Amino acid sequence: MTGTKEPSFRESVDLMFNRAASLMDLPPGLEEKIRVCNATYTVRFGVRLRGDIHTFTGYRSVHSEHMEPVKGGIRYAMAVNQDEVEALAALMTYKCALVETPFGGSKGGLRIDPRKYEEHELEQITRRFAYELAKRDLINPSQNVPAPDMGTGEREMAWMADQYARMNTTDINSRACVTGKPLNAGGIAGRVEATGRGIQYALREFFRNPEDIKAAGLSGTLDGKRVVVQGLGNVGYHAAKFLSEEDGSRIVGVIEWDGALYNPDGIDVESVRQWIVKHGGVKDYPDATHTAEGSSVLEADCDILVPAALEGVINLSNADRIKAPLIIEAANGPVTAGADEILRKKGTVIIPDMYANAGGVTVSYFEWVKNLSHIRFGRMQRRQEESRHELIISELERLDRYLGDAWSMSPDFKSKYLKGAGELELVRSGLDDTMRIAYQAMREVWHSRSDVDDLRTAAYIVAIDRVSKSYRAKGL
Ligand code: GLU
Repeated sequence: MTGTKEPSFRESVDLMFNRAASLMDLPPGLEEKIRVCNATYTVRFGVRLRGDIHTFTGYRSVHSEHMEPVKGGIRYAMAVNQDEVEALAALMTYKCALVETPFGGSKGGLRIDPRKYEEHELEQITRRFAYELAKRDLINPSQNVPAPDMGTGEREMAWMADQYARMNTTDINSRACVTGKPLNAGGIAGRVEATGRGIQYALREFFRNPEDIKAAGLSGTLDGKRVVVQGLGNVGYHAAKFLSEEDGSRIVGVIEWDGALYNPDGIDVESVRQWIVKHGGVKDYPDATHTAEGSSVLEADCDILVPAALEGVINLSNADRIKAPLIIEAANGPVTAGADEILRKKGTVIIPDMYANAGGVTVSYFEWVKNLSHIRFGRMQRRQEESRHELIISELERLDRYLGDAWSMSPDFKSKYLKGAGELELVRSGLDDTMRIAYQAMREVWHSRSDVDDLRTAAYIVAIDRVSKSYRAKGL
C-alpha cells in the first residue's frame, strides 16, 4: 500500500466497514444503507464579540437511527469538517452497537480554537450553537443526545443543557438532553475519567486471555509493561494514570503537541500533567528526555502504544516503523485503513477504537438513564445492603470470639465488606462488565472464524450484525 494515496478519515472508516461487510451475509442493499450517513446538518451563525460579528461553522451529523436517541460527542477544533464529523458519527453507530448502549450514532463539531476565547465568550458561542441544534431536535433527550469530545467538557455540556432547558421549560426530562454534565447539573460520578477507565478495563480483559497475549507476542500481565501514550488530554491522562498507579505499567513515553518525553525508567504521569497545566506543554520537563519531533516516539520500542489524540496519526508514512506489538486506540481513528493493513501483516495486534474508547459513551448511557429516572444510582439500596452485611459481620464476630486465637477476621475486611455500593462503585462495575462482555463478543469472532484475523474486523462484524438485526426487526 506504500506509495498509494491515503484516503480521507471517512473513506478509511468505510474501507474498514467494507472489509468486514464483505465477510457477512447481508441482504442486498442493507450493507449500503448501514454504511452511509443519514444526514449532516451544517449551521453558520454569528455571535457579536469584542464589538464585531464573528461567524462560526458547526455540524451535527446523524449516521444511523436504527435506535434513538442517537448519541455522540461535540468537538471544538479548527480541523473540524464534514468528512471528519461523518466518520466520527459512523464510528459512534458501531461503538454503541458493540457495547450495547441503546443508541444510534451521531457526532457534532464546531470549527473554533477554544483557547482563543474568554470563558464568557465561549459560553455565548456554545449557547448559540446549542440553540441552533435544539430548535431542529439535534439536541433532544429522546432524539439526539450530545456529549463532550475533544475541546469540550463538563462546562460546555452544562451550558448546552441549560440552553435546552430554557427552550423547553416543561420538559421534565430536559437534563437527559446531553451527557457529560457536571455532578451538580445532573451529571454522574465517574463520567470524566470514564474513557480512560475503559482503556484500563479493556487492557485488563485483554490480559486475561493468554491466547490473545500470545498473539501479540507478549507474555505476563500489565505489570511492568512499557507504555507510550500520545496525548495527555482527558482520555490519555486518565488511561496512563490508572495503568501506572493501579496496574504497575511503566509509562516510558508521552507525546504532546510540543514534542515528546521519553524515559525508559518510567515517567510520573501526575507530575507531567501538572507541568503541562503550568507551562502549557511538555518542553523542559526535567525527568525525561525531550524530543521536538514528537511523533518519532510513536516508533519507540515499547510493549503497548496508546494513541489518545487525533485521527490518522499512524498512517502510510510511519506504519512500517511502529514497533509496539500491541496498539490500543484510545482516540477515534488513529490508524488509517492503509496503516491498518501494514500493521496487520506485521502481526501487530490492534484493540480497535470502537471498543477501546467506548467507556465514555457507556457511562454517558448510565448518566442518561439516571436523568430519566430522576434518582442517583444506589440511593435506595446502599444502606439496606449495608445492614444486611452487618448481620454477617456480627455472626463472624461471634465466631471470632468463639475460636479465640485459632482464627480472626483479616484487619480491613470488616470496613471493606460493610461499605454498600454508591454511585461511583456502581458506575465502575457497570463499565467493567460492559468492557468484558464486549471484548468477549469480539474475540469470539476473531478466534472462531478462519477468515477473520484481527479484532477490528471482528468488532465491525459484531456491530454490523446487531445494527442489521435491528433494521430487520423494525423496518428501515
Ligand atoms: N465523544 C465520546 C466518544 O467519541 C463520547 C460520546 C458520548 O458519550 O456520547 O465516544
